[in-house]
Amino acid sequence: MPELPEVETVVNGLRPHLSGRSIVQVSHLDWPPTVHPLEPEAFRQAVQDAQIADVSRRAKYIIIHLQGGAAIVGHLRMTGQLTYHAQSTAPGRFSRVIIELDNGAQLHFDDQRKFGRLRYVAADQPLAGALPALGPEPLAEDFSRADFAALIARKSLRGNPRIKQALLDQSFLSGLGNIYADEALHLARVHPMRQLRTLSDDEIGRVYDAFQQVLRQSIANNGTTFSDYRDAFGGHGSNQNSLRVYQRTGQPCADCGTPIERIVVGGRGTHYCPQCQPLVEVQVES
Ligand SMILES: [Zn+2]
Repeated sequence: MPELPEVETVVNGLRPHLSGRSIVQVSHLDWPPTVHPLEPEAFRQAVQDAQIADVSRRAKYIIIHLQGGAAIVGHLRMTGQLTYHAQSTAPGRFSRVIIELDNGAQLHFDDQRKFGRLRYVAADQPLAGALPALGPEPLAEDFSRADFAALIARKSLRGNPRIKQALLDQSFLSGLGNIYADEALHLARVHPMRQLRTLSDDEIGRVYDAFQQVLRQSIANNGTTFSDYRDAFGGHGSNQNSLRVYQRTGQPCADCGTPIERIVVGGRGTHYCPQCQPLVEVQVES
């Protein structure tokens, strides 16, 4: 599933091509739930002739801002691909929505599994109301190490989850998913099963530094493509070649040579190095 770096890559690719363009029409819409809660005809009418002001990202959401304050909020979910085509291109096998632009280009939304969404948010609706509760952006300039430590302290009093589960909780911190949570914890040398209350200030600081580093590295590599993720032009990311532990079960840790192990934490497959990330001082829940 695309996470922050993949969505950031798509947004950075789309922004210069979409900003200032107008939508001529929706020429293809073959899976109505994609544009839920609007009906297909209402979606077509809502976006027709709209001018695109900007494209931005919040958590794992792509926000196409329209002049006047309305927006199209995209979520790729499992297999969604939002791509820019400079010339008119026939619908692909999994094309759900195709939007025609005033320069003859097209915006295609392809989605094999059909869980992805393009939601229209009218100008008089608050954008935040179209999104679930989301924690801070991990790469925001004003999100400091002290802010992260404060989040950890608060969460440790409310359920005291394991660090892997906390990093996946979008209402705690937004944008990380299974890949970058595992990668960050390996870089930080923190076991994914550690409960928040057992983490030292030094470990919390290392986790903060680590998720910043793995997210920035992946953005620089245009994201991680295992199967379905594509950038805004249909290209593959290359960060899969730089992963430390994710989906490397049995392969040697790059830092110590110990085989990477896979366990399940909170229902999610989790990859770690038992040598670099020892399980110490896990507090037993009463
Ligand atoms: Zn290791």
